[in-house]
Amino acid sequence: MATIIDGKKLSEKIRSGLKSKVDYYKEKFGKVPGIAVILVGDDPASNVYVNMKEKSCNEAGYKSVVERISKDSSTDELLGLVNKYNKDNSIHGILVQLPLPKQIDEKKILFAINPAKDVDGFHPFNVGLMHIGEDTLYPCTPYGVMKMFEEYGIDLTGKNAVVLGRSNIVGKPMASLLIKANATVTICHSKTKNLPEVCAAADILVAAIGKANFVTREFVKPGAVVIDVGINRLEGKLVGDVKYDEVEPIASYITPVPGGVGPMTITMLMFNTMKAFEKTLM
Ligand code: NDP
Repeated sequence: MATIIDGKKLSEKIRSGLKSKVDYYKEKFGKVPGIAVILVGDDPASNVYVNMKEKSCNEAGYKSVVERISKDSSTDELLGLVNKYNKDNSIHGILVQLPLPKQIDEKKILFAINPAKDVDGFHPFNVGLMHIGEDTLYPCTPYGVMKMFEEYGIDLTGKNAVVLGRSNIVGKPMASLLIKANATVTICHSKTKNLPEVCAAADILVAAIGKANFVTREFVKPGAVVIDVGINRLEGKLVGDVKYDEVEPIASYITPVPGGVGPMTITMLMFNTMKAFEKTLM
């Protein structure tokens, strides 16, 4: 039976530390970290995420601004908002909720965010720093997974890590952070051959493909650490990419869905915003 990696508990611990920092900085400098979240359109899932981000930031005492603009907005209108918050000294983190409507040039928007305020870690400047192994603002979901390894004392040095998925927001940065932590990393995607065998060689298996219950027992080496990033809706329930009931008995550690990686993502957004804020105090 595996040890369950409790993302909810770890999130609460990190958030409580962040709240104490906010109280300290407020008292000492009269300043708090500020985040601006921009939501274009009315996609229900994005709306839920944005509300959760706002609530979490408010609870920790951050300044939090949410800009909701019409789904018909232009690239220039959105650029105007990004620039407004680039210049606003009370805002230390800017997040543009993805996905954006088709008429908007997503790259142009993400590249316009001041890298020092890029708390999602998606700007090529930060992506580049991460890939050369420098300390910077890392993408929140893979960074949250790294915090889980740290919290549970999971040593990555020399371990075979397999990352299932090569997206820019999860798979690729996950691989980069694992390399930095001295793991030997393989990245798999939809064109990978012999996927179950490749995965079954992993000491550390991170699944981030968005396919419900895809990772079955045959993908998992007994004793492996299994991290399930996937969030899928199946028959009205949230499930991960890993077939939990089958894999949990043979893994050494496993993250549940919900309550695993999910809560860590917003926590790391707050963590990154604190980091960006602290840089302005130096
Ligand atoms: P993307 O759709 O951007 O990427 C999916 C990746 O999985 C692609 O690289 C794709 O390969 C690969 N893939 C898809 N199907 C297969 C397959 N059958 N075999 C092997 N590889 C496959 O997804 P994201 O990275 O954005 O998200 C992945 C999952 O993580 C989703 O369920 C998402 O909801 C969840 N997520 C969870 C977060 C959290 O906070 N817990 C945050 C972000 C995402 P190819 O490149 O070849 O197409």
